Amino acid sequence: MEEYDIVIKNATLVTMDEKNRVIKDGAIAINKDRISFVGKTSELKQRGEIEIDGTRKIVIPGLINSHTHMFQTLMRGVADDLPLLKWLKEVIMPLSLNLKREHAYAGALLGCIENLKTGSTTIIDNHYIHFDPKNTEYVIKAIEETGIRGMVARGYYIRLARPEFNEDLDKALKDVENLMRKWNGKENGRIMICPAPMTVWSQTEESLKKTVELAKKYDVPIHIHTAETKAEVELVKKHEGKTSVEWLYSIGVLNERFHLVHAIWLTDKEVKMVAKSGAHVVHNPISNMIIGSGVAKIPMMIKEGVNIGLGSDGPASNNNEDMIEVLKFASLLHKVHHVNPAIITADQVFKMATLNGAKLLRMEDKLGSLEIGKKADVTVIDINKSHIAPVHNPISAIVYCAYGTDVDTVIVDGKIVVRNGELITINEQEVLEKAWKAAYDLVEKTGVKS
Ligand SMILES: [Zn+2]
Repeated sequence: MEEYDIVIKNATLVTMDEKNRVIKDGAIAINKDRISFVGKTSELKQRGEIEIDGTRKIVIPGLINSHTHMFQTLMRGVADDLPLLKWLKEVIMPLSLNLKREHAYAGALLGCIENLKTGSTTIIDNHYIHFDPKNTEYVIKAIEETGIRGMVARGYYIRLARPEFNEDLDKALKDVENLMRKWNGKENGRIMICPAPMTVWSQTEESLKKTVELAKKYDVPIHIHTAETKAEVELVKKHEGKTSVEWLYSIGVLNERFHLVHAIWLTDKEVKMVAKSGAHVVHNPISNMIIGSGVAKIPMMIKEGVNIGLGSDGPASNNNEDMIEVLKFASLLHKVHHVNPAIITADQVFKMATLNGAKLLRMEDKLGSLEIGKKADVTVIDINKSHIAPVHNPISAIVYCAYGTDVDTVIVDGKIVVRNGELITINEQEVLEKAWKAAYDLVEKTGVKS
């Protein structure tokens, strides 16, 4: 009898398939990079070369962290309690000026490890610090080595940022194009690159139109911070005479490739424009709460049919990358904001971090659910814990009870990367040493008070 490569059995499966099946006493089997069986353990006909017992464990599609800046792992807590533009210009940007490849690498390695160990199998890392031109490649190297699935959204400011941060448009786009040519599809498709005009206010009509062309040519998304704070909307208004989404819409660029990150300060009319255009929103509730940026109109967006993904955002404004924690906040924020516990459900936020994330990556045929033929990106959560057990509703248990540290096993592209809560692809302790050193070096060089 033939064997599967990996079998997980006796588990509760949250499939997120079309019927939203939750399978008790379920089994999932993997061959190479694909899921080849999903069903009852009793229906499993073959053994696995590796067998994992899923008793009192929940198996979910690997979580998708749709927005982070991993270099900021080195900047956790350096500047808490500041408003966004002050935080960015006075602390994060000065620190970033000194960010060399060794810092970018250490930060990204740490970020990948944290994401994997807390159940995320895919990340979108928005990297925008290029004072060392090799920085982006070192982020990619970290993704390659740790085994996570990663899209690097290569960021660029064209105007109005601190002068050192503004890039020449054509040079920036050339760099994105070179990276896409070199890396897109590498590691069996695990590595992806896309353009990221950093914020709406830092772009021009020309930069956005050229970005859209480039994204179309390589069939990739476009990642852009949008209306994160009131002050940013004012800046767009001052230069373009319109609010953020209104401007994007009026110049005809907004389309289904766009990830509008945050999208907090939108008018109702703008929410409708987002829905009409097919653009996606990436919601980062913890970051929005820490920076005090505001509350995105998520329930209205859901009603209007906008696809919403979920992100941790960078660890300088979170201050970690634990997507299981983000799930809980994504639900609680809107309940309290609307003084209505029914305004958003655990199922809705869980979908944001799985299927919706896959959709905004343009990979809904490969990721986001446990279905035969899809990529084997799988997270196993131990629920035999005093803060989770007993479990009546598996999705509720994950959203409201679990911590990232309850993650037992993580499989990406058919390879086990975390087992018994431990990373097995690279040496975590060595990365921690690198990161401690890189972080203190950065703060010392910059002279930022922490
Ligand atoms: Zn961000």
